[in-house]
Amino acid sequence: MTWTTASLSGKRLRSCNRETERENMYAQVIVDITHEKLDRIFEYDIPPRLAGELQVGAEVIVPFGRGNKETKGYIVGFSKKPSYDPAQIKQVLRTEEGSRAIEARLVELAAWMKEQYGGTMIQALKTVLPVKKKEKALKKRRVRLLLSEEEGREKLRIYIKKGEKARARLLAGLLDQPEQDYTLLSKKLGVASTAIRALEGQGVLEVLEEQAFRNPVRYKVKEKKEVVYGEEQSRAIRTFREDYDTGRRGTYLLYGVTGSGKTEVYMEMISHVVAKGRKAIVLIPEIALTYQTVMRFYGRFGDRVSILNSRLSPGERSDQVERAKRGDVDVMIGPRSALFTPFSDLGLIVIDEEHETTYKSEQVPRYHARETAVQRAKMEGASVVLGSATPSLEAFYRCKRGEYTLIALKNRVQKRELPDVYTVDMREELKNGNRSILSSRLKKLMEERLKRGQQVMLFLNRRGYAGFVSCRSCGHVVKCPHCDVSLSSHKGGRLVCHYCGYEERAISICPSCGSSYVGGFKAGTQAVEELVKREFPCARALRMDMDTTRNKDGYEEILSAFANGEADILIGTQMIVKGHDFPGVTLVGVLAADMSLYGDDYRSAERTFQLLTQAAGRAGRGEGKGEVVIQTYSPGHYSIQMAERQDYEGFYEEEMRYRDLMGYPPASELLAVLLAGEDERRLETAAKYLKEFAVRAGKREIQAIGPASPYVGKVKDMYRRVIYLKCEDYRILTALKDRMEQYIEMNSGFQALWIQFDFNPMNIF
Ligand code: ADP
Ligand code: ZN
Ligand code: ZN
Repeated sequence: MTWTTASLSGKRLRSCNRETERENMYAQVIVDITHEKLDRIFEYDIPPRLAGELQVGAEVIVPFGRGNKETKGYIVGFSKKPSYDPAQIKQVLRTEEGSRAIEARLVELAAWMKEQYGGTMIQALKTVLPVKKKEKALKKRRVRLLLSEEEGREKLRIYIKKGEKARARLLAGLLDQPEQDYTLLSKKLGVASTAIRALEGQGVLEVLEEQAFRNPVRYKVKEKKEVVYGEEQSRAIRTFREDYDTGRRGTYLLYGVTGSGKTEVYMEMISHVVAKGRKAIVLIPEIALTYQTVMRFYGRFGDRVSILNSRLSPGERSDQVERAKRGDVDVMIGPRSALFTPFSDLGLIVIDEEHETTYKSEQVPRYHARETAVQRAKMEGASVVLGSATPSLEAFYRCKRGEYTLIALKNRVQKRELPDVYTVDMREELKNGNRSILSSRLKKLMEERLKRGQQVMLFLNRRGYAGFVSCRSCGHVVKCPHCDVSLSSHKGGRLVCHYCGYEERAISICPSCGSSYVGGFKAGTQAVEELVKREFPCARALRMDMDTTRNKDGYEEILSAFANGEADILIGTQMIVKGHDFPGVTLVGVLAADMSLYGDDYRSAERTFQLLTQAAGRAGRGEGKGEVVIQTYSPGHYSIQMAERQDYEGFYEEEMRYRDLMGYPPASELLAVLLAGEDERRLETAAKYLKEFAVRAGKREIQAIGPASPYVGKVKDMYRRVIYLKCEDYRILTALKDRMEQYIEMNSGFQALWIQFDFNPMNIF
């Protein structure tokens, strides 16, 4: 089944004349069952009573299957001629109660996502329609006096005479102020609802009800900071504005060093779009979606801003979506899923920290928010602004090819300097007898800063840590001879490549220098905290990691305590480097920079460069100049050297050479096919056949690698395998994906296996 987006267009539908609609229209319905076999369109006749009520995206109840079981589905289009005997076509029963008629355009976007990323249409629809049911609406009630002043006084005298104290209090209160909030009134005066009802019965007052929408942000507008844009900021704003005003829409990459004032630029661009009556979506990684960030937008746009994040209750979420649909919101801020906010007049999508891996969904369809945003914007006549100090290779590559417009902010605001960065060779430390986690240089700098009352951040890089083996004496890392990624140590003492499955025996002596200091890399935040407390007993240290942020507000609490100067040292994992603004920090120490460098993944160097640059960017954002110490066993590696020089473009050139040579994205397209099953032999056979099929179907244009076992080869009693397919043309890969889907469906050997597709994966499996 192919999905032609043209047939899903809502425009054609709306231009239809009612009468012909009633005579000729059949609804194309997707039945809401997540099952490959049912992922096709079924046609239903539209009964006259529903004609005119149904639109693309509407949720309907239809009779399904032999037993005509009442089943829920979505309308994805209409047709004038049925594709089989009209006498046999069943009728739509009714529309689902409380359902939302979603934008036809979002259904169209879902069809595109299905095509691009695989999976079923149902799964794609569920992704773009995040709020399933309308939550119970919140009612706001008011009480209004119906009597005149005179009548009221008269009534009051009667109540007092009869000793009806509650009624008297209530009436007196309303005589003071004739219209009041129900809850506040009953609380303030201490009257029960029975008294209010009694007076309502007597015609003294009326109770008015209206729907209220919860607003998840409790905010106070602080005094607005006047910003005078710097030269680069002004130029960025002007470029966007001129294009927008001349009707040019496109994708911009705002590549600005840390602290260059990107957020101010986004807000000005949003203002411009909003002033023209359009709406904006701002995507921010969930972890950076802090009170501090949201308040900056509130300060500017007031309650025309709303947020969607995982901390909202289902009712709050549903209300924000409703407010957006009603046009009560101009700017929606949220993580990846906020991309599907049902604005009908979208003008701009901003993606902050666009390089973040969380913009890629880990559920089918495994879409990337960047590509999907570009597509949504194209469909709706909007622009996209991507922002980062360390752009993804994908985004920068597209700028080089002229697909995106590059806008650079090379300087920090108010001429603040970028920090000085030093690398420390930990092999030398070992040689000089220092076996501590802290190098002598970092320790000395910490002493100095603490003495001056400045703050320090210690960042322990644990990202992408996948059990690589290295030598502490010479820095040698054991790699796959075919794929040029690190081998991972598996149980049973084997070293394994996660792309191609290559294996070798574990080593106890360094093949490069003969040292016996070889092994896995281990260090935890807790160990660092203990060490810091021993070395600096007078300093106040805070630790931020998975353990200390487990409760709902743990994350915000630690960040604000540190921001308020309640601690001198903040120790944490990658969580602490995400776009926070701590003006008191003048020193950042990066412990174990190599951890992410030798993740067993082709994006390891990119991730390392990003983490180091972002971490360095935390230093010196206030008055004092910042310094950064990067501790590493691989000071010669280009991602460390370029981070030391804070040279993004230098890094990009080097890294693209590697991607080109090895055929990794964005130089080439990569499709991961994930297979899982309980029966390992059957899985093995299926993976082999699927690979052979791909090789046959893809001919010479495709390079197939694997099947290999992922790092965690067995999860919840399911064995896993991965096949990687490389190709220069994305369209060839999506076509191959379609053919593989058919092949899987037709062959019984794939039954009871779980198979998913992941295009240009962010992580290794
Ligand atoms: P980025 O997102 O690039 O790291 P921000 O937008 O967070 O940068 O800006 C860093 C700090 O500088 C913020 O406190 C912001 O309010 C401030 N700032 C940004 N632009 C200006 C400006 N033109 N004048 C003064 N302060 C600015
Ligand atoms: Zn060695
Ligand atoms: Zn390999």
